[in-house]
Amino acid sequence: MRDHDIAIGGGGLTGLVLARTLATALGDGARIAVIDPDGAGVRADPRCYALSAGSKRLLDTIGVWSAIAAEAQPVSGIDITDSALTDAIRPILLSYDTAVDDGEPGMWIVPAAVLHRAIADTVTDLRGVTLVNAVAVGLASDTAGSTVTSADGGSLRTGLVVACDGRNSPLRDAAGIKTVNWRYPQTGIVTTVRHERPHGGRAIQHFLPGGPFAILPLTGNRSCVTWTEEEGEAQRLLALDDAGFLGALERRFGHRLGTLELAGPRAGWPLAMHLARELIAPRFALVGDAVRGVHPIAGQGLNLGLRDVAALSECIVDAVRVGLDVSDATGLERYARWRRFDGAASAAAFSALNALFSQDNALLRSVRDAGLGVVDRLPGLKRALVGEAAGLTGDVPRLLRGETLTL
Ligand SMILES: Cc1cc2nc3c(=O)[nH]c(=O)nc-3n(C[C@H](O)[C@H](O)[C@H](O)COP(=O)(O)OP(=O)(O)OC[C@H]3O[C@@H](n4cnc5c(N)ncnc54)[C@H](O)[C@@H]3O)c2cc1C
Repeated sequence: MRDHDIAIGGGGLTGLVLARTLATALGDGARIAVIDPDGAGVRADPRCYALSAGSKRLLDTIGVWSAIAAEAQPVSGIDITDSALTDAIRPILLSYDTAVDDGEPGMWIVPAAVLHRAIADTVTDLRGVTLVNAVAVGLASDTAGSTVTSADGGSLRTGLVVACDGRNSPLRDAAGIKTVNWRYPQTGIVTTVRHERPHGGRAIQHFLPGGPFAILPLTGNRSCVTWTEEEGEAQRLLALDDAGFLGALERRFGHRLGTLELAGPRAGWPLAMHLARELIAPRFALVGDAVRGVHPIAGQGLNLGLRDVAALSECIVDAVRVGLDVSDATGLERYARWRRFDGAASAAAFSALNALFSQDNALLRSVRDAGLGVVDRLPGLKRALVGEAAGLTGDVPRLLRGETLTL
């Protein structure tokens, strides 16, 4: 006997959005468990996410966006510079507007905690969804179903297991799926600042020798800074007192937005890249960071994960509609074919971008700056890049097009 139809390991953003999406599409009869040691509790996370237009459409379609809208800042454009830390002036080498179809913003900046709270609120009371406070440690599958075991000795019998348990994914290991990994010698520092002048909705990416320094506009005169540095230097910066940290931040931020003050905590993430060799196994699928971890240079990790959620949900719902089980191999194989290339290509592209721009070499800088200048003069290429970053190119899942999924 199965206790559940689907067990989702991990109640982070992808796990909760998947639960919401499947519960809504499959109806009250579907029994879905979300297993996470923190339940659906809000995470203290100082990051802000650059959400693509496609991710925004997905959240809108499943009824979550209205709870986020007041704190979501649309991004009207992005300006890119490339200079040494000591350069007095940072000329804008590439500048583009992010609007996609009919002026819809191609990107939104949303605080991670706001996003998590909004999604958790819509999942907590959903009929058919059970939140299980536990650490999933084991997985065994047979022809009739799968059993997930937890660290406290509990177990759960289900038809399908979806691992949304992040980059170290214990369920991925339990399913015997290997990964390719490498560490960047860099740390991602995140904090929020308040500034004197309005940002006008424009994001700025300063390519600096330590790594990209992104200024992402938030509501009000605030911006979230996602700042990549060589790891030793990052530890030094994170340990500074507020005045020292603000001074280091001001040197990189530039003067365009006037005087700065710190408006949130700071935290650092070691940066690494990994890619799972398989996306599925019998009665099992990987989603989000459990599939791949990408460099935050383009702010796409969560967007890729939400694209997984949309594609997997569509494959499962289409399978169930024609009378197949939620775990049927046809649906899972379609999901793996759909998502395999996107994840691998993105991980490689963001790694290459990071390697190209995180170097203090004058010759290399002049070559790459010439490249940025060429892109800046090609409106067609800029439009294509904007469409790609907005998650609206290729074989786009229905939810990312703003269409509902139903049986
Ligand atoms: C500095 C930085 C900035 C970023 N900025 C952006 C951005 O602007 N835009 C963007 O799209 N992406 C961004 N990302 C990437 C983004 O943070 C991730 O891609 C996203 O959080 C992955 O979500 P997830 O749900 O797959 O995994 P996670 O958020 O890692 O969630 C995993 C969940 O699984 C649970 N879990 C772990 N182990 C177990 C277990 N054994 N049993 C049960 N549950 C378990 C955890 O408690 C957690 O709740 C950034 C990343 C970094 C480091």
